[in-house]
Amino acid sequence: MKSHLIFIGAPGSGKGTQASRFVADRGFRHVSTGDLLRNEIAKFSVLGLEVKKVMDSGQLVSDEHVIKLLQANIDLLQHQYIFDGYPRNLTQAQTLDRDVLTGSSSVAVYFEINSDMLVERLTNRRTCKNCGAIYNLISKKPKIMGICDICGGTDLTQRPDDKEEVITNRLKVFSETVSPVLSYYEGLGRLIKVDAEAKVDEIYKIITSKV
Ligand code: AMP
Repeated sequence: MKSHLIFIGAPGSGKGTQASRFVADRGFRHVSTGDLLRNEIAKFSVLGLEVKKVMDSGQLVSDEHVIKLLQANIDLLQHQYIFDGYPRNLTQAQTLDRDVLTGSSSVAVYFEINSDMLVERLTNRRTCKNCGAIYNLISKKPKIMGICDICGGTDLTQRPDDKEEVITNRLKVFSETVSPVLSYYEGLGRLIKVDAEAKVDEIYKIITSKV
């Protein structure tokens, strides 16, 4: 079995876009803890109701909630995964190795980007409510405004936490928690860094040449 990939990067650094390429071209499964949590909110589950306020403020949900949800949604015997949005702190990185990936190999990919670019990227991000396709109102507009190119869905929505005031908080939380995670993977010789300001195709080539 080949390595699982762990995508680490600030919100808006392009992890989801690269993950879609890996899913389409290389058969990976993409597991985003943010998406799993948003699904819980959409279902009005007990967990969803508990985490909504925290997520809407840009803070992190508790480690216990996230790990349970992650474990319930992966099957490591069957699939090769891209973990997106997990781990967010050192405890989660250690838990992932010890309790989830036990025995299987993984490589972390860090999407390096200047934070000034991120506010613009995130405030212009729209997601198709039906199929999850991601657009950007400046750099990746749908062909017909308001309509998803992929499924024809007519609900291209902005995430509640992609509003400018929340974005600032999410970026702050990210920069405060990422260093120990990077040091952890670097210390284990399992960290690759990519320039996330490069073009989507170039980033894809760089990652595929290294993993
Ligand atoms: P994302 O879609 O990765 O930007 O995540 C959106 C929000 O979901 C974050 O701001 C957190 O509130 C929550 N979240 C996602 N992944 C995690 C995680 N691994 N640990 C804690 N909270 C998370």
